[in-house]
Formats: sequence, C-alpha cells, structure tokens
Amino acid sequence: MGKKVMVLAETKDGKLRNVSFEALTVAQKLAAGGEVVAALIGNGGAAHVEAISKYGPSKLYVAEDDALAVYTPDAYVQTLLQLVQTISPDVILMGHTAIGKEIAPRVAARLGLGLLTDCTAMEDREGSIAFDRPIYAGKAFQKRGFQEGVIFATLRANNFQPVENPVQTQIVPFQPKIKDIRTIVKEIVRKTAGGVDLSEAKIIISGGRGVKSAEGFAVLKELADVLGGAVGASRGACDAGYCHYAMQIGQTGKVVTPDLYIACGISGAIQHLAGMSNSKCIVAINKDPEAPIFQVADYGIVGDLFEVVPLLTAEFQNVLL
Ligand code: FAD
Repeated sequence: MGKKVMVLAETKDGKLRNVSFEALTVAQKLAAGGEVVAALIGNGGAAHVEAISKYGPSKLYVAEDDALAVYTPDAYVQTLLQLVQTISPDVILMGHTAIGKEIAPRVAARLGLGLLTDCTAMEDREGSIAFDRPIYAGKAFQKRGFQEGVIFATLRANNFQPVENPVQTQIVPFQPKIKDIRTIVKEIVRKTAGGVDLSEAKIIISGGRGVKSAEGFAVLKELADVLGGAVGASRGACDAGYCHYAMQIGQTGKVVTPDLYIACGISGAIQHLAGMSNSKCIVAINKDPEAPIFQVADYGIVGDLFEVVPLLTAEFQNVLL
C-alpha cells in the first residue's frame, strides 16, 4: 500500500536547499504510489511552489507566523510538531542540515518516534525500508530500518540524485500556534565559506596547515572560483588562524560529500577524513609522499601546493573559460 510521505523543505538565503530536492526524490520512491507532501517553515514560503512542484509533491504546506521570521529552535519545533500532527504522515524526511540536526531529534522525542540521522542511502526491499548511516566518525556504515511506526530520517546532502517529476502543487497555508520562545535572535553574524555553500558544494578545494597563512588561501580561492566550488579547511588551518571555523571539515566540523574534493597541504588525520572520505573523487596535493591523505585519495600529486594549484587553475581556465 502507498505511503504518505512528508518532506520538510528548507531555504537558505532565500533559495531552496538542494537537499530538499533530494529528499523529495527519495520521498517519491518511498511513497510507492501514495502521496508526497512538502512543508516549508518561515515567511514567504509560497514563492517556492514552482521550484518545489518540479519534484512531485501534491501539496506545499506553508507555515507562516511572526515568530518564524528568523529561525529559533522553539518556534520551528512547535511548528513541525503541529505540521506532523496535521498531515499525519507515514514517513518524515528532511535534510541533515544545521536546522535538521537541531529540530528532528526534538520532534522525534516529543512524538515518541524513532529517528535515523545523517542517512546516505536508502533501500526499499519489497516494502522493507533501510537506510545507510555512518558510525564511528564515518569509519563504518550501518544499515538500519524501522520495525513499526512512522519512518523518520534526516538525509545527508549530495548523496541522492534529485530527479524531476513535475506536478501541480497546491499551496496550503498553515498557521501554527507558537508560544514560549526561550531565545531571542538579536543579530545574525554571517561567517561563510564564500559564495558556494560548503555542505552542498559539488566541488571543494580544501586547505590545511601546509597553506601556511591566511593569504595562502587566495591560491585555493582562485581555483575554487574557476571550478565554481567552495573553499574548505582542516582544523589545523583553522586553529592556526588562517581561516574561520565555519570552513572546517571533519569530525568536529562539517561533513561533506562533494563530487570532487581537492585536499591541499592536509596530512589526512582521521578526524579530517571523518568529514570528507565519502567524497566521490579525492585529489590530494602534499609534498610528503608518506602523508596519510594519499591512502584515501583517488589521485595524488606529490609536490608543493603553491606550484601545483596555480598550474591546475591555469589549466582549468584554458579548458573551461
Ligand atoms: P598537519 O597535520 O600539520 O599537515 C600539514 C600537511 O601539509 C603535511 O602533511 C605537510 O606535508 C603538508 N605541507 C606542508 N607544506 C606544504 C606545501 N607547501 N605543499 C604541499 N603540502 C604541504 N581536524 C580536522 O581537519 N577536522 C576536524 O573536524 C577535527 N576534529 C578533531 C577533533 C578532535 C577531538 C581532535 C583531537 C582533533 C581534531 N582534528 C580535526 C585535528 C586533527 O587531528 C589534525 O590535527 C588536523 O586535521 C591536522 O590539520 P592539517 O592536516 O592541516 O595539518
């Protein structure tokens, strides 16, 4: 029998996040002929109906309230709870984003549901649904499913290929009842990795302590700009003050799964690998041929990054521009 699948979509800087389209694609498969509905929390959500409708939901619930003008966990958790109670889905999916990580466990706990977080693959074996998720900081993966009740999962970005399935999507205005907000957002201070969102970037050029200075990162930024990618960093580089912690990739930083990850002057400590070893293609540039990063790299270049990276930038410039 078909399932009712609810996807909590998310926007960032006024644009829908790509992981929302990935979740809607997974939702189509899980629905198996049932219904897919999307929900957006935050004001102005109706403006996204056209983009959302390309990925198959019959309805888009748009939850609006003055209390949702800026993100607070209290307001979003209350709204998501009420959406779930209204929609009564068999499956709930959302991105494993900063917001997803914060609100999904709270909503699951309040509803007494199980939750699988950071899922990287989904398998449907004749109705028996299983998700892959990393354990031991990405050293191993486990396959987990639900024996009964609502399936609730957060999905890691860049792991599911979005597939379009255009439909007419009906907008359903939703007025949540929000009270007791315990936090006040006074100011939002943006510290980002640049134009491209690191956690959803298809190409990442990452620098480590080998980059040697904040100015050294300009070389990586040039390559990233030519390739349309984002710049990331190891904790070594962040600790040394070369870049902001918003750029840190690894166990205590961001977990990324780009199509291409170019590690420059990064040794490949286990804590760094935890954040990037599932990238589809890894290129390592390091002057030490024994650096552990070469053990996970698909392509290794032994050399000085300040010679190799500008050469790559010039070559890609010739080919792409
Ligand atoms: P280094 O280990 O110092 O490596 C620098 C590399 O640059 C060397 O391999 C060197 O050969 C190479 N190099 C130098 N000059 C050049 C050049 N000119 N050209 C080419 N190569 C050059 N680390 C993370 O990255 N992310 C995390 O989330 C994280 N979480 C942690 C959590 C905990 C609890 C702990 C204990 C540690 C964590 N770390 C994390 C730190 C991690 O253990 C390493 O210390 C860190 O990743 C090292 O950064 P690095 O590779 O940039 O520096």
